[in-house]
Amino acid sequence: MNGEQDSKAAAAPLPAEADVVIIGGGVVGVSAALFLAERGIATVLCEKGRIAGEQSSRNWGWIRKMGRDARELPLMIESARLWGRLAPQLGEEIGYGVRGATYLAETEAELAPHIAWLDQVKSFQLDTTLLSAAEAARLLGRDDRRFEGALHTPSDATAEPALAVPALARYAARRGATILENCAVRLVERSAGKVTSVVTERGEIACKTVILAGGVWSRTFLENLGLSFPQLAVKSSVLRTTPAPEITPGALGATRASVRRRLDGGYTIARSGAAEFQLIPAAFRHFGAFLPILRSRWRIMTIKAGPDFFGPLGSTRWKADETSPFERVRVFDPVPDRRLLDDVMESARKLHPQLAEVKPVQTWGGMIDVMPDEIPVIDTPPGWDGLLVATGLSGHGFGIGPGVGLLAAQLVAGEAPLIDPAPFAWSRFTRRNAA
Ligand SMILES: Cc1cc2nc3c(=O)[nH]c(=O)nc-3n(C[C@H](O)[C@H](O)[C@H](O)COP(=O)(O)OP(=O)(O)OC[C@H]3O[C@@H](n4cnc5c(N)ncnc54)[C@H](O)[C@@H]3O)c2cc1C
Repeated sequence: MNGEQDSKAAAAPLPAEADVVIIGGGVVGVSAALFLAERGIATVLCEKGRIAGEQSSRNWGWIRKMGRDARELPLMIESARLWGRLAPQLGEEIGYGVRGATYLAETEAELAPHIAWLDQVKSFQLDTTLLSAAEAARLLGRDDRRFEGALHTPSDATAEPALAVPALARYAARRGATILENCAVRLVERSAGKVTSVVTERGEIACKTVILAGGVWSRTFLENLGLSFPQLAVKSSVLRTTPAPEITPGALGATRASVRRRLDGGYTIARSGAAEFQLIPAAFRHFGAFLPILRSRWRIMTIKAGPDFFGPLGSTRWKADETSPFERVRVFDPVPDRRLLDDVMESARKLHPQLAEVKPVQTWGGMIDVMPDEIPVIDTPPGWDGLLVATGLSGHGFGIGPGVGLLAAQLVAGEAPLIDPAPFAWSRFTRRNAA
């Protein structure tokens, strides 16, 4: 939210009670607020900093079904429909368009996992196809055979995250949700195993239902309630460029550089999977669970020890009347990896002649929350009736965010859910989660 909206959201009085309190103003929290407000349910969303200040404005802006884990595809298919329905209703430009997404492969080895994925998901009858070298060249408007082939999904979409999520929040507010910025939730209170209120830095809100959509902070929040949650953080770096000629209107992935054409005519560029694993105390507690990810990504993932160890995501405990880590870090703004981004920019120029002259104009970092199996948790922890955890979108939550928000809203409203939520169960990691 910006300007006037911003100060209104910060200055709004704290309601004494609500049907549902949502913790976190990213794409999940904001979407849940919208769908609850549409149902006439009194909803207050508390965001510690500003709406979409963290992952939800820092992402690449891909809204894709392609390449998804089959367990989350049903929810993603619904989410894609939601984006299509919501975008024209928002009354604001969010850069949304069904422009297609393509994974380019330079070698047969790069093409192989795409072929395997296509085989795994054939029952979903997606419009994804495998392009030959000639077809890939045609798509890119070039006559060489730089690429061995590609995976292409015409129905995938893109949008401008920094515009889209604040616009969704304003729409939710117009539908009746109360959106509070600069309002950290310190903890959730319960009595006899049932939620009774949240304690914010500005006072208490009585409520029987809470949705925790805290992104990378969710583990810290839950640990303070006595709940162990295997969610870790990886830092990713991104750049945007000066305007350049169009390659294709959609999103283009490749091993060394993935690019998306922006509303302003520039490109958002980054390297898929090139992330920095944050070595924090929780990393040791959950190391075993994350070993498979570390093993499969060791070539492109770096492990970072250092100041972050005792930093905001480090293990801390606090009480309702004490300042929480969420007030200390209003907006997590990690320093991007400049050396990596120089290399990514150079790779993008080599991959696409249209980018030969572009210059980077902005770089940024984003801290991504990751679960061991890289799909979300959308469930209630044992012993916490009324608390729904909706987090762990593991680096691909912008696209699926509205679907996760709708599912969360349906679960707390007691409606039949749009998809079977079983893959997102809390219990899938450990039976030892209860406090
Ligand atoms: C560099 C990068 C590229 C990505 N690219 C893509 C992409 O192309 N496509 C895609 O689908 N996904 C992508 N993602 C992933 C996607 O951005 C995230 O999965 C998604 O935004 C997560 O949304 P969220 O609402 O769960 O969390 P967030 O957006 O992180 O929001 C959580 C919010 O909760 C707030 N909060 C936390 N604790 C508290 C508290 N106690 N009180 C109040 N507020 C609190 C935080 O301040 C934050 O604003 C990318 C992510 C990054 C970083």
